[in-house]
Amino acid sequence: MAADDPYRDPSLSVEQRVDDLLGRMNLAEKVGQMLQLDARQDLKDSVSTRLAGSILHASPRRMLEAVDLAAGTRLGIPLITAEDCIHGHGFWPGATVFPTQLAMAASWDAELVERVARVTAVEVSATGIHWTFSPVLCIARDLRWGRLDETFGEDPFLIGELGAAMVRGYQGRGLDDPTAILASAKHFAGYSETQGGRDASEADLSPRKLRSWFLPPFERVAREGCRTFMLGYQSMDGVPITLNRWLLHDVLKREWGFTGTLVTDWDNVGRMVWEQRVCADLVDAAAQAVRAGNDLVMTTPGFFEGAQTAVERGLIAEEEIDAAVRRILRLKFELGLFENPRAPDAARQAAVIGHADHAALNLEVARRSLVLLTNDGTLPLAGGLAPGDDGRAAWAGAAKTVAVIGPNADAPQSQLGDWAGASGQVDWMPDGQPRELIETVLDGFRAVAPAGWSITTALGAEIERLVPDPAGAAYPDGQPRPPISEPATADPALIAEAVAVARAADYAVVVVGDTVALTGESKSTATLELQGGQIALLDALAETGTPVVLVLLNSKPAALPPSALGAAAIVQAFNPGMRGGRALAELLLGLIEPTGRMPVSAARHVGQQPVYYNQVRGQHGTRYADLTQDPLFAFGQGLSYTTIEYADLRIAEPDVSTTGVVRASVRLTNTGTRPALETVQAYVSDLVTSVTWADRELKAYRQVLVPPGESVIVPIEVPAADCSLVTADARRVVEPGDFDLLVGPDSRPQSLIRARFRIG
Ligand code: BGC
Repeated sequence: MAADDPYRDPSLSVEQRVDDLLGRMNLAEKVGQMLQLDARQDLKDSVSTRLAGSILHASPRRMLEAVDLAAGTRLGIPLITAEDCIHGHGFWPGATVFPTQLAMAASWDAELVERVARVTAVEVSATGIHWTFSPVLCIARDLRWGRLDETFGEDPFLIGELGAAMVRGYQGRGLDDPTAILASAKHFAGYSETQGGRDASEADLSPRKLRSWFLPPFERVAREGCRTFMLGYQSMDGVPITLNRWLLHDVLKREWGFTGTLVTDWDNVGRMVWEQRVCADLVDAAAQAVRAGNDLVMTTPGFFEGAQTAVERGLIAEEEIDAAVRRILRLKFELGLFENPRAPDAARQAAVIGHADHAALNLEVARRSLVLLTNDGTLPLAGGLAPGDDGRAAWAGAAKTVAVIGPNADAPQSQLGDWAGASGQVDWMPDGQPRELIETVLDGFRAVAPAGWSITTALGAEIERLVPDPAGAAYPDGQPRPPISEPATADPALIAEAVAVARAADYAVVVVGDTVALTGESKSTATLELQGGQIALLDALAETGTPVVLVLLNSKPAALPPSALGAAAIVQAFNPGMRGGRALAELLLGLIEPTGRMPVSAARHVGQQPVYYNQVRGQHGTRYADLTQDPLFAFGQGLSYTTIEYADLRIAEPDVSTTGVVRASVRLTNTGTRPALETVQAYVSDLVTSVTWADRELKAYRQVLVPPGESVIVPIEVPAADCSLVTADARRVVEPGDFDLLVGPDSRPQSLIRARFRIG
């Protein structure tokens, strides 16, 4: 490498520099560029011997080592570094860990989610990481799936809005912005269509079904300029996604015009040999993966030898490797890594990681992510008076006692959820994120309850115990196999203590849910029940006569027992991040208004799967013989501390052309005494369709402030082009005819008022 080699000259165009560099590279160097290897493994072997173009999971210490090793290779091509910064920079000690994607989705606020992604990028970019494997655009389908928490819920439109916002936030104002990081839309596409909720199973998806629900969010972010896409683990019609040339090439690149870079998921190429057994060896697997259009191959070190042998044997041409390497080098030049490898920057880290403004945004998004599902009037516990300067709720009456009970009442790491700290993916944070940065529900009550109130506590129940996986200590590829979770048994002593504490209190705030051992990859659950001693605890607390406020702090919606459903109020919190406990205390006390709406439907029973709202019209009614098919809580559902009435849905011009816009308005009246941030949801129902189709689909929503006692007129616009369906031969079209516009506070038919329009 000489300093005056043209590829080192920033005054040349990216294409000129790529051409020059590619012309200097030998086959091994080219194949090496396609490797993305695990930085926890032998770094020298990865970067100096296999010449990896990219690494992931580099601890803060190993990152610096890796940058130096890359600088010492023959051509000095810089590394591109990646990490799963899914809801904040979760694996950086002290970074801001936000609510999970599912929790953030409950805000229904794209602008807020964009700000979260921007702040994440500011923190991540200071640590030498160029690329986050986020956002997840998988659609929540079967609630048993372990990765539900990583999704934005079940609706393709909402997912597309929030996903596009996150991409904008991460990528900032362009890749030359030093605080920009690459976004990655994943997992392309159809990974969440599991069988029985099991992770990474064959996905039974036709092209029509893909185009109907699974692809639209990906198309949305491809058009938004998302620079990278990651594949999933699923196969369709017998074809592993890694070899699905139709999706990778025909749809993504040709049809949507995607010119970015692809990365496989973890050892997808190797898995085709050792797990799925569709390739005899890594030579065959490497050849097929290159031919299908993959660029970076994640954590398959043997791809290095395999791809070179494949070229030597004539299974693939070197030009096919060149095409992938071009796309990788282009990214590196566009990020300016040859001039500035964007190495970790200690001064910037000190200035931005966990900055107070970021913590303030974290509290804001946590507040917005909480969904009030039921309330008999018990909540808010202390509403009405303006809070004091100390942030505490104000209270004029006799002091109260609140018992904060349950296994997740003071469970800092469970509050963060998956992909953070000690959740299992990295080995440098065994104790998780610093305890002092996390405000649990108990902390929150102690901080903001009115002066003089007593806050008592009891564990009440345990959720699980961890035992070694009977399948062995390691996976066939050598990765450690995590312990498995076994439900804990109900402990009479813990329950008795909790009952005593609840009896002595005016209110019992009971925080139940799950843990990271019941969440994530390979951790789908067979049931949706509250595990361990939690149901026994709720049953016992229901007998105390003390009003129970139930908080669900879990990775995904649970099926609730009768004692839970009888609670005075239920709040769905999912994993609300570092400041979630404080946000919950504020909400329950009445310092803030509840504004969240369910991004996913909750089931009454695990056997209701799938229970998402936009099901295709079928026959034979809406009941099982032994249960309704109606969800426990529906997509879009959520209460305020006031009541909002919807009336006067009007469509300005009911006849629209296929290129026109349906313009409507609805009047909202706040009939209570507290303000509301109402999420007005607009669904469209195509009355007669040439093929079976969903009865209604979300097409627009708006969030509006409605002061107490006031009415506001809310405009709604739906482009006629969005009133489409997918034909039997998988074409998306608008079929002229009659449609209903359905507007209201959630997706249940009985919650919506309707008006007719015609597309002609
Ligand atoms: C997951 C991806 C993740 C990758 C890297 C995979 O197992 O499916 O979502 O980005 O690992 O950690």
